[in-house]
Amino acid sequence: MFTDTAHVDPPAAARILPEPQGRQLPSHRDLRHDEFWREIPGYAGVSAAEFRSHLFQQKQAVTNVRQLRDTLQGLVADSFYEDLAAGMSHAPMALRISPYLLSLINWRDPVGDPIRTQFIPLRSQQTPDHPMLRLDSLNEQGDSPVPGLTHRYRDKALFLPIDSCPVYCRFCTRSYAVGSDTDAVSEKLKLHANLARWEQAFAYMESRPELEDIVVSGGDTFNLRAEHLRMIGERLLRMPNIRRLRFATKGLCVMPQKILSDEAWLDALTRVVELSRALHKDVVVHTHFNHPNEMTGITQAAMNRLTERGIHVRCQTVLQRTVNDSAAVMQLHVRRLSYLNVHPYYVFFHDMVPGVEDLRTTLAAGLELEKRVRGHTAGFNTPAFVVDTLGGGGKRDAHSYESYNQATGIAVFTSPAVRPGKKFLYFDPLAALDEEHQWRWSQPSERRAMVEEALGE
Ligand SMILES: *Cc1c(COP(=O)(O)O)cnc(C)c1O
Ligand code: SF4
Repeated sequence: MFTDTAHVDPPAAARILPEPQGRQLPSHRDLRHDEFWREIPGYAGVSAAEFRSHLFQQKQAVTNVRQLRDTLQGLVADSFYEDLAAGMSHAPMALRISPYLLSLINWRDPVGDPIRTQFIPLRSQQTPDHPMLRLDSLNEQGDSPVPGLTHRYRDKALFLPIDSCPVYCRFCTRSYAVGSDTDAVSEKLKLHANLARWEQAFAYMESRPELEDIVVSGGDTFNLRAEHLRMIGERLLRMPNIRRLRFATKGLCVMPQKILSDEAWLDALTRVVELSRALHKDVVVHTHFNHPNEMTGITQAAMNRLTERGIHVRCQTVLQRTVNDSAAVMQLHVRRLSYLNVHPYYVFFHDMVPGVEDLRTTLAAGLELEKRVRGHTAGFNTPAFVVDTLGGGGKRDAHSYESYNQATGIAVFTSPAVRPGKKFLYFDPLAALDEEHQWRWSQPSERRAMVEEALGE
């Protein structure tokens, strides 16, 4: 393996040099500044000022097929609405999409559009769930000492103060709790904003001296009232054990207008960040962009406001087939995030949640993508590719599997710091397997045999 020739430098002419500067602007800097929403019949008369208001974005959010029809009018064929209606009856998440996102979809090719794919279910695209899939696939409720608090890792915990979001993503990992009930998932766990429930969570966090790091998520912290955001932030920062807070919101991606026009909310966040500095603690925002098309001049204006206030933002991206599983798209995504001062932190392999099997990629495809992204830009702006293992083993570096059989699609991970001695699984989507293995997965006895073989039982 280590022959001399492996270390010989290629001749200078054969080296791949960085692209020359200045000749052409790299496309990650080309953010849309046009009034793109005016192409949508329902928003043709909406001014830039109105479109930049979060109240407009909230009030005009589209939540059913009729509203979508009224907004798009003749932009798409009737068959699209039929496909959507059928898709919704099989979807775990209710429909909710902001005018901002809706306007960023290419309605000339909605089926192939990465934003449509994430927010608007189509029956024609859905594929059957993997047989090993469960509703709460990460077993968050199993590690939950208090409703809406998951304490899985020693020094950090996940606090879910609220179960609503400014939009609903088809692929939500918390479809067991987030958003309203749907035909496919009824009787969700309810985690409404509720001071009595929060008090229980605060008491628990205060009682565990090993806890230092709290992820305040949901739902979405964008949907917390300003005074509640501030109260939660101050309450947690005043606990001597708590050193680090992260406020998780998809809002920056799906409704950046809030940062530009909801002064009370932004001021509440700013006060919490300032308090953390005074106490020599750390508060950051965690957000969730999945595709470069989601970042526009409006995102830049919002990020500029946060940067001016010294508020740091990190991004957790979900790897999704057809959305961001090509090297060119993921490279552009990472560079555009970096350009806006959003720090790419993680790329998650898609969780095994119901109704979105069409969005999952294989472990092999994601590992190949990682290879092509690393080295493209600064190491600190290169996300780690992680798998959140089934059943509560926690997040694992995708490369760290103990075994991976590409024929059965079964990967085995261990998690010695979280659950020593146990094995955790992740499964490639069945559509990526050959016919023989797809057949084996359709047979319960074969299924058991494949899993037992992978676990070495
Ligand atoms: C993801 C997660 C965290 C935070 O993990 P990091 O790897 O530090 O980002 C904390 N608790 C739970 C239950 C989580 O799922
Ligand atoms: S914003 Fe987050 S919590 Fe809300 S639906 Fe989307 S993925 Fe789920």
